[in-house]
Amino acid sequence: MTFRIACGKCGAYIYAGMELRYARDVLKAARGKCSQCESYLSLKDFALDVVKVRV
Ligand SMILES: [Zn+2]
Repeated sequence: MTFRIACGKCGAYIYAGMELRYARDVLKAARGKCSQCESYLSLKDFALDVVKVRV
């Protein structure tokens, strides 16, 4: 499984990886901003997208 956190505004992935992380920690690491559109994010703006991948 891949865990992804995407910007709710532009759809860019703030975090993507195998490790499950809390959205608030990822947001903190990104300094609360999307690296693509540079808009400030709140937890409500995040969309969680968990995708199953074939092994
Ligand atoms: Zn964005």
